[in-house]
Amino acid sequence: MIYCPNCGSQIDEADAFCRRCGFNIAQIRGALESPKEQEAVKSVIIQRIEGIRMRDAEAIRKLIDIDNYTKFDDWPPFERQGLDGLKREADALKVLKEYNYEISDLRIDIFGNTALASFIIRYRGRIRELDFNVRSRVTMVLAKVSDEWKIVHEHWSRFPEKEWVRRRFPFLY
Ligand SMILES: [Zn+2]
Repeated sequence: MIYCPNCGSQIDEADAFCRRCGFNIAQIRGALESPKEQEAVKSVIIQRIEGIRMRDAEAIRKLIDIDNYTKFDDWPPFERQGLDGLKREADALKVLKEYNYEISDLRIDIFGNTALASFIIRYRGRIRELDFNVRSRVTMVLAKVSDEWKIVHEHWSRFPEKEWVRRRFPFLY
């Protein structure tokens, strides 16, 4: 539900103008709806990461646009993956022992039926006998498909190790 920014009355989905005061709603509908859409997109992103924590490959699959999905991962293989990436992730979840994460600096921009989300994630855990503690930058592209936001593309890339940066960019230190 959206409200007229001028007089506060409720606005019907189909109305171009406020029925009470005549305010031109059509022109700013995108901005009015955007907090609602941003919340919807945020919820998909949180569910996607929770899917890892809960080791629930099926829940993750439901958030993905299966026909168009692509991914660059921050684990090998680093090449672009499609549904094979989902399969690989599902296999990894079976041997994932611990997983905790924090998301920061989340930004969501909505362009009609497309959304762009970016954030930083720190995640720690244990897979097989390997402990990991990773900080990555993530970008996700989502599309609204029959009124539901689905992940079309995701790109995870690790922050380089401090030593790597120090060796290559000594002038920064
Ligand atoms: Zn009004």
